[in-house]
Parts: sequence; C-alpha cells; structure tokens
Amino acid sequence: MNQHKRTGFLYHPDYLKHDTGYGHPERGQRLVIVLEALRNSDIWGDLIQIEPTPATIDQIKYIHDSRYVEAVKQMCNKGGGYIDYDTPISAESFNVALLAVGAVLRGIDAIITGEVDNAFALVRPPGHHATPHVGMGFCIFNNVAIGARYIQKEHNLQKVLIIDWDLHHGNGTQDAFYDDPTVFYFSIHQSPLYPGSGRADESGTKTGAGFTLNSPMRAGKRPEDYVEIFEQQLKPAAIKFQPDFILISAGFDAHRLDPLGGINMTEEGFGQLTDIACEIADATCNGKIMSALEGGYSSAGLSKSVIVHLEHLLT
Ligand SMILES: [Zn+2]
Repeated sequence: MNQHKRTGFLYHPDYLKHDTGYGHPERGQRLVIVLEALRNSDIWGDLIQIEPTPATIDQIKYIHDSRYVEAVKQMCNKGGGYIDYDTPISAESFNVALLAVGAVLRGIDAIITGEVDNAFALVRPPGHHATPHVGMGFCIFNNVAIGARYIQKEHNLQKVLIIDWDLHHGNGTQDAFYDDPTVFYFSIHQSPLYPGSGRADESGTKTGAGFTLNSPMRAGKRPEDYVEIFEQQLKPAAIKFQPDFILISAGFDAHRLDPLGGINMTEEGFGQLTDIACEIADATCNGKIMSALEGGYSSAGLSKSVIVHLEHLLT
C-alpha cells in the first residue's frame, strides 16, 4: 500500500483495568484482541506510538459537571458500583477513564504540533453516551466531546466537526453541543435502537440549530448505503461548516458480525468512510483527524475494522 500520512497510535495497558464484570460485552479482551491483530499486521511498524497521559479533572469538566465527576470518583474509591444498569465500574475505572480521555488529548496535541498527520486511540471505556450530567451505555466520560472543547480552549481553534459512525446514536455528544454552532455533530446509527435518540429532525437548537445532523438507518443497511449518506449528507454539510479539526467517534459495532446490531457494514466499508472523512479533512483543515474507539463487540469484526481504518488513515 502506498502510504503518505504519518498516523499516531495511542494505547495503554491500564485500559484493561476497568473491570465491567463477567459476561459484559464491553470488556478489556476487546482491546487485547485488536492489539494482537495489529501487531501481526503489515501496518504495525508504520504507526507512530504515542503514550497517553491522564486528562486532568479540570479538562473533564470542560464537558461534565462537577457533581457527576465527584460521584464517579467516590464510587470508585468505595470499590465500584453501577453508574446505570449497564454501566458497571470498578475501583480503577475513574483513573482508567481519565487515561482514555487523555489519549484523545495527547493525539490532538501530536496532530496540531505536526508530530503526526492524524491519529487513532484504542481506548476504553468508550464515551459517546456520556452526557454532561451522567454516564450511561458503557460510557463514563465523553472522550471525544472533551477532545472538542480541548481543541477550542487549549489550542485556540474555533470549529470542530465530530463524525460518529458507531452503531448507536451518540446522545451524550449531541447533548453537549446541541445549542452550540462551533461544534458540528454528525451521527449515522441504527434506528430504532438504544439509546432511542437521534431522529432526523433532531438538528440542534438556538444558535446551534442546523449544527447537528442525524442519519438514522434501518437494520439491514449495507456499506453502500452508508457511503451514500456520507457523500450526499455529511460531505456537503461538512464542507459548508469548514471545520478546523475533525474528531471521529469510531465505533465498529455496525459491522455485520457484531452481536449488538443489525447493520451489515464491512471492514472495507469502514475504510471507505475513513477515506471520505480524510477527504473532508484534506479539503478543510489540512487533514487534521483524531479518531477514538467507541463500540465494537465482535472480535473478528472489530480487529479487522480497526486495521482497515488505520490502513486508510495511513494512506
Ligand atoms: Zn455502539
């Protein structure tokens, strides 16, 4: 493959310490399997390794309110508990969640300083269901939403585009920016499905009206359907918005092998979506894209999709 871009890769073994308990689909083994596949792939040596460091509490508060952050910390200090019925946390989860956010922030730093062209963070817990007030749906802190505010507050860039192709609607990210014209949130997701939000008529409010774009998809949709939405809906909106930076909420649970969904995406399809995101980035913001893992619960579907995603970021 003809490779042109320098792509950063962020991972930390501490991500395995967030213990969700026996039988939970969002478990550390997800990342172990992806890492093993990556190390055995042709692209491992091409990736530029970047070490994540934890985000600070102040950075978490760019999105989340103090009471929620403190509640998670206290719960972990007591050994763990449940943030909601499907979001168990363990003693280490607070620190692991800071390190997941931190990977996104360090990747952003590396892109903006020119150390790399783009980057991918293989992190857990995922983030896009975490609202400003509460975590849910396997998510504690909203890694990508905090990244968007970090870009604005600490790197002085104005406009951020978030592309969310996880199987599920990113209700937390939408909530964080629903009235904000400086962060454009695009989500393509299966509907009806958890968490139930993300109708096409949810498009933002007040000065943020028109800066949220939802493309709900029925079960059974295929890669060409996703590509059509990206070309015909996302691309013109994104070019009009002219972002200074692009973040991807890269969940791979829309893969046809995934046990949680009914969308028939393929790893090649995710490669096509990556190409379109990169085309938008090249046309608007010098190719600046930071991508972070969200969902993805099929070992084979997830590892193949991450590899193809990285191959296309490298190209
Ligand atoms: Zn998901």
